[in-house]
Amino acid sequence: MPESPMRILFVAAHPDDIEFVAGSAAVWTALGHQVTYCLVTDGAAGSNKPDEDLAQLVHTREAEQLAAAKMVGVEDVRFLGYPDGTLQPALELRRGLTRLIRELRPYRVVISDPTAVFVGNFYVNHPDHRAAAEAALYAVFPSAGARPIFPELLAEGLEPHDVSELYLQFTDHPDMVVDISSVIDQKIQSLLCHKSQLGEEVVEMVRGWDAETGKEKGYAFAESFKVMKLKQDEAQEQAVSEAPVPAE
Ligand SMILES: [Zn+2]
Repeated sequence: MPESPMRILFVAAHPDDIEFVAGSAAVWTALGHQVTYCLVTDGAAGSNKPDEDLAQLVHTREAEQLAAAKMVGVEDVRFLGYPDGTLQPALELRRGLTRLIRELRPYRVVISDPTAVFVGNFYVNHPDHRAAAEAALYAVFPSAGARPIFPELLAEGLEPHDVSELYLQFTDHPDMVVDISSVIDQKIQSLLCHKSQLGEEVVEMVRGWDAETGKEKGYAFAESFKVMKLKQDEAQEQAVSEAPVPAE
């Protein structure tokens, strides 16, 4: 079992991406875990209006993100400030995420699925989502745990750290669900903090998705992930063998 409380790090491209799985964040903070959000881009591409003040939009979206995090008990929010819309999974970004992982030393890291390109037959996954996810994935492994990678981080006093669990959101291949029935209202309020991006229409849409996700397990509402167990200790191996389809 992980130490209690567990440290959990979410990494996403845009302010509002994490809120689609903020029910899980709410469940985990209620359990006493220490949750950090990291937003890679500044969200400045979140408007198509010709006269939009994009510098002001960055401030608005930061404030919305902080409020959304607070709604589910998350106080630690990091903004890396990359330009929205043109993100690349470059080494500089991987180094920055490696630095954050070594600083926080999370047991669990939550990213989106970097392999998702086509979602159903109606949505092309945003390239920023894939770029942030790819950089975070390779920050988790191998960069965070490998002493020779990014030696400049050792000079900053940041020792290697092995992440135990990787959760993928926005995936077509989920293998576990988190029961969010008790926190669905908190999740919806968290989403609605992003007033510049989301309107009331998100309420029924997300409730519908999460009800569908919960159906198989008999949960009123749930969120799904693909889970990678990167560090298998004996206790975990036993837990996995006793519960082939784990749920929380
Ligand atoms: Zn996004």
